[in-house]
Amino acid sequence: MTSLVKDTGNPAAIEIGGLHKSFGANEVLRGIDFRVEAGEVVCVIGPSGSGKSTLLRCVNLLEEPSAGTVRVAGADVTGPEVDIDAVRRRIGMVFQSFNLFPHLTALGNVMIAQRKVLKRGRAEAERIARVNLERVGLADKFGAYPAQLSGGQQQRVAIARALAMGPEVMLFDEPTSALDPELVGDVLGVMRGLAEAGMTMLVVTHEMSFAREVADRVVFMDGGVVVEEGPPAQVIGAPAHERTRTFLSRVL
Ligand code: ADP
Ligand code: MG
Repeated sequence: MTSLVKDTGNPAAIEIGGLHKSFGANEVLRGIDFRVEAGEVVCVIGPSGSGKSTLLRCVNLLEEPSAGTVRVAGADVTGPEVDIDAVRRRIGMVFQSFNLFPHLTALGNVMIAQRKVLKRGRAEAERIARVNLERVGLADKFGAYPAQLSGGQQQRVAIARALAMGPEVMLFDEPTSALDPELVGDVLGVMRGLAEAGMTMLVVTHEMSFAREVADRVVFMDGGVVVEEGPPAQVIGAPAHERTRTFLSRVL
């Protein structure tokens, strides 16, 4: 069988094996296995409560897996001697809520973690912040405070903030779900640009047209398991499972 995955000969950017996560008696992830190759864009779709956010949070160790392994660029991040901060530096994350500091400008928001976490000097952090704000189409908003920006612009600042840390992988958890419909396109456009530039991306989204057009693979989750995965034309266009069809009939 020919693999649909790009074979670079390198370890997978993300490799998840037998991942379980319980909160008390509630088993939210019930054995998840999949890989994201370097340069791949994988979209995770599925109903609310199916464990999509928990899956992303286990990848960057915001949650501790109950069992199983998560490897990032070949390194086991669930091992006992893992440097959690070092792992998080390799993984950028963008959430539904942008969580910008209201008292800092766009430039300040993109500089602060570079300064505090990476210990970059002011001039270098500012240069890198400018490059990344330009990259997300906000060259004219360096001095704007969050309250002066639309939701879509704030989310693009949050993307620039993550990119400024130089991540190898970007995780997106429903990045457009909190936005007014007319602002969604700009954010998806930025994400499309990142994908075209070769960024490795794991994206939880309800934007089926984005998943169809941009994803190399789509993973459909329900009830804490991967029900099916494959190229978008297969999973979205011709789903094999009844659960996938039912979900798609609600969102499409
Ligand atoms: P999704 O992102 O697919 O909507 P989540 O991963 O957010 O799903 O949640 C899956 C289930 O895990 C839900 O039942 C939710 O209540 C539960 N859950 C998520 N985070 C926690 C937590 N920190 N403590 C307890 N339960 C949680
Ligand atoms: Mg979620």
